[in-house]
Amino acid sequence: METHQHDLVVIGAGPGGYVAAIRAAQLGLNTACVELEKDLGGTCLRVGCIPSKALLESSEKFHEAQGGMAAHGVKLDGVSLDLNTMMTRKTSIVGQLTGGIAGLFKKNKITRYFGTGRIAGPGKVVVEGESPATLEAKHILIATGSVSTPLPGIELDGDRIGTSTEALTYPEVPKHLVAIGAGAIGLELGSVWMRLGATVTVLEYLDRVLPGMDREISREAEKIFKKQGFTFQLGAKVTAARVEGEGCMVDIEGSDSISCDRVLLAVGRRPNTEGLGLDTVNITKDKMGRVEVNDHFATAEAGIYAIGDVIRGPMLAHKAEEEGVACVERIVTGYGHVNYDAIPNVVYTHPEIASVGRTEEELKESNIPYQKGSFPFMANGRAKALGTTEGKVKILAHKKTDRVLGIHIIGPRAGDLIAEAAVAIEFGASSEDIARSSHAHPTLAEVIKEAAMATGGKAISI
Ligand code: NAD
Repeated sequence: METHQHDLVVIGAGPGGYVAAIRAAQLGLNTACVELEKDLGGTCLRVGCIPSKALLESSEKFHEAQGGMAAHGVKLDGVSLDLNTMMTRKTSIVGQLTGGIAGLFKKNKITRYFGTGRIAGPGKVVVEGESPATLEAKHILIATGSVSTPLPGIELDGDRIGTSTEALTYPEVPKHLVAIGAGAIGLELGSVWMRLGATVTVLEYLDRVLPGMDREISREAEKIFKKQGFTFQLGAKVTAARVEGEGCMVDIEGSDSISCDRVLLAVGRRPNTEGLGLDTVNITKDKMGRVEVNDHFATAEAGIYAIGDVIRGPMLAHKAEEEGVACVERIVTGYGHVNYDAIPNVVYTHPEIASVGRTEEELKESNIPYQKGSFPFMANGRAKALGTTEGKVKILAHKKTDRVLGIHIIGPRAGDLIAEAAVAIEFGASSEDIARSSHAHPTLAEVIKEAAMATGGKAISI
């Protein structure tokens, strides 16, 4: 087996790993990246964020064509679904993006190793696979991401009972899809198949959908989703799911079992550290199986770092990217920082739901005095023109300093609108700063300005 020397070996080429590798190469490190999948980009590009967004856009178009544009005076007859083309388009988008990363690796002279990377002691990574190799490096970065969390009693058969990976490739529209978990995956992929014609039931263990979000926003989301046709069973503890004949059966504690033809298990993800060789070095994991790191992503073993889903914090691609950049910048320059208060979170349903900063519940729990302002999309000209007026923007600012602490949006294009909110928090803006910034008219962003004005008690248009 050949031995190769590098300055940095990154294990995993998801959004955390590949971005870190590129930044490290830009900063002059001789960088290698080990990835076991042929295509680079990790869960996000291959079987997560990107293919799901492709299907969300396509299914929304189908839904609109089926009558969603009648109020605009656009009537279409004989609309039909070509699921095959929809899936082919999705696969092509994924292919273009993963190919793009391979191009970026080439341009930045990053050595890619195809195989499973395993730590074999300080400064050493063994690549197992088609072309085995031993890599020696001063720095090793663990960016192995996460895998779907299993649930006892749920027998995943990789077909009828599966995770998001299967739900991105169903060969036909299920008649009845049961999603276990009302988080981002259950709601996004549930939306896709409901728009394409499925009956969708979502079983959630807690008493509300999207438990991590601001409660007021998640309540509003639940109401809107119910109107769209989602059936929610909250406080539902699923004890088993199995294939029975042509379909599946899902058992719920203290409630009737549900028969359906597909089950989507979406109860969260857990850090992916299996077979990584952590026992060969001085690395510890916390109770949730996450690699423990300090504020600079360093593990207890000198020269080994970890970022992304495999460490603490929200499991989000852009959070992993920020950490990857900060980690390698710190290795090379001595500086590198991530502001966790300014990491946005978006759920790409219709309407979209987006937030950044603290929720109202978190502020109450921490006894932080706050004032809030909100403004509905219903009173916004652009939202009316779009024909999507559900939802609102809610701003939470410190009661004494007016510094913005949290912005929560449910409404059209919330995922794009939240960028302004993240910048405001990053720059320590007050709600008055946002209120006094000119926002183009007529735009959806004016709802943020009006919500900021309402925070100071001075909304104009309501
Ligand atoms: P999640 O953590 O967002 O939601 C899981 C849901 O399942 C929670 O509401 C939880 O209460 C519920 N749950 C847990 N155990 C249960 C049980 N036994 N029975 C019923 N419900 C149960 O997880 P997810 O939706 O699976 O997504 C996985 C990860 O991927 C998350 O970290 C998520 O943030 C990320 N993700 C993000 C996006 C996005 O940013 N748009 C999209 C997809 C996934």
